[in-house]
Amino acid sequence: MWRHRPFLDLGLFGRGRRLPRHLAGLSELELLNRANREQELSNFLEAAQIYEVLSEKTLEQKQIRSGYLFLQSGRSYIQADQTGLAMDCIKQGLSILAKAGRMHMIIQVGNRIVSELNYRDRRNEAQLVTNWLDVSLNGSIQAFGRSSIEVDPTRPRLPLKCLLCGGTLIPNEVEWLDQNTAECPYCGSPIRGGEGG
Ligand SMILES: [Zn+2]
Repeated sequence: MWRHRPFLDLGLFGRGRRLPRHLAGLSELELLNRANREQELSNFLEAAQIYEVLSEKTLEQKQIRSGYLFLQSGRSYIQADQTGLAMDCIKQGLSILAKAGRMHMIIQVGNRIVSELNYRDRRNEAQLVTNWLDVSLNGSIQAFGRSSIEVDPTRPRLPLKCLLCGGTLIPNEVEWLDQNTAECPYCGSPIRGGEGG
């Protein structure tokens, strides 16, 4: 179904993961809600698999979201202690975001993934992701620096979760549409700063 894969730089795997039968027929948003809920309940493997299906579903039409969902899927696989599966998703997510020119997102999410791998003592994988980051950023990881991990203090506070899809919002991973409005990286809905949470 997703035969046209335009991003081949880093090599793609395309496992074509299928949804478990009881989730077939759910809409994209319902699936996203489901994945975010499983993630919150620490059902990381279930969450990772749904995120991965969603990243493949959105690859053609919504590339940035697809890239982010691949990375989120990778993070959930890491938490589920399925590092092998995680690495495929991370590689793919970085490749998609690099093609889309989302260097900021690559740095923020990528560095967090490296930290998460190091925290779990997965040194080889952490080094591999660091290498992929360097490739994704055209060898200029130094130029982009790591200081950008800090949250811009001039931005308003975001709610902890997206009200629409329930995704956990990490302030320095969102894209700002204007001074007060960020975009949910999972579902794309606008999120006003300074509201609830
Ligand atoms: Zn959302």
